[in-house]
Amino acid sequence: MDKMKAFKFYAAHEPLRLEEVPIPKLKEDEVLVKVRASGVCGSDLNYRRGKARPYKTPIILGHEISGTVEEMGEKVEGLEVGERVLVHYIISCGRCAQCMRGNDNRCRRRISIGAHVDGGFAEYVAIPARNAFKLPSNLTFEEGAIIGCAVSTPFHALLSGGFKAGDSVAVFGLGGIGIHAVMWARTLGAGLIIGVDVVDFKLELAKELGADVTVNPKVDDPVEVIRDLTDGWGVDLALECAGVPETVNYTLNSIRGKSRYETGKAILIALQPGPVKVEWIREGLVTMPGDHTMDDLRRILTLAERGRIDLTKTITHRLPFLELNRALDILEGQTENVVKVVVTQQQ
Ligand SMILES: [Zn+2]
Ligand SMILES: [Zn+2]
Repeated sequence: MDKMKAFKFYAAHEPLRLEEVPIPKLKEDEVLVKVRASGVCGSDLNYRRGKARPYKTPIILGHEISGTVEEMGEKVEGLEVGERVLVHYIISCGRCAQCMRGNDNRCRRRISIGAHVDGGFAEYVAIPARNAFKLPSNLTFEEGAIIGCAVSTPFHALLSGGFKAGDSVAVFGLGGIGIHAVMWARTLGAGLIIGVDVVDFKLELAKELGADVTVNPKVDDPVEVIRDLTDGWGVDLALECAGVPETVNYTLNSIRGKSRYETGKAILIALQPGPVKVEWIREGLVTMPGDHTMDDLRRILTLAERGRIDLTKTITHRLPFLELNRALDILEGQTENVVKVVVTQQQ
């Protein structure tokens, strides 16, 4: 056994190419993960659309990965062959000032699995052993995969944006990131949660996961609804998870207070469509959070293991690994009721 199937990205606007490639050789501090589930992320779509570029081509994309440990480098300790793991896609040095502060997402030597180095759209992926997190036995591989990005990104965004229990939160765009932002707002104790999307199916799902009020901008003006619900002031935090100009405007306008002494926080998670113009903001915050940290993952896995979060509702599409291009099409097309798409591999 020395070859594996992998989907390689060569260029934007073309399908990923299924190829037989060598199984990666392990360094002494790495493990080889036999991939069981890979989430399809908006970032993968953005590469295909040409809105963003991976750092090398061709490359095996995929950064929401779970599987089992197949093989371990000589110096790896604390893991076992056959163990179920999920992959933290940020490779950090562990030694720079930001790593020391626990901000491995801002490591000065940071690279990303599935953007700088080969990722999880393959039968196997080699990763540093410290990037393998044990998957609790009550979680499926599919759930493990989405914890690696879609679940952890909004968790980090809320907490790094200064979220406090009792805050009012509006979430714009209820895809893989936004829907989990609603879930986290509820789990972490938000006082009021408003979900905004143009797809009714997603609004229903948001209600199931904890949104108090949902708004379809095709029917109502979300900014007006939010002002009505907050005595005209606007929400404490608004999260932009769609990356289109309309939702960026909604986000900035739904936090702004009615006096110059009151502003909230705008958290721009999605890849932004262009420069963001902010007229003024006082003691508020416009932030673009970056990914998540190892510490976030540790906290999330503790909550997931205890059954504090429900990850069974947001994966709407599961496809066999070999249908990855169709999985990308489904996420792109949004013709079906799509939230999170995962490709899976049997043992
Ligand atoms: Zn992602
Ligand atoms: Zn570092």
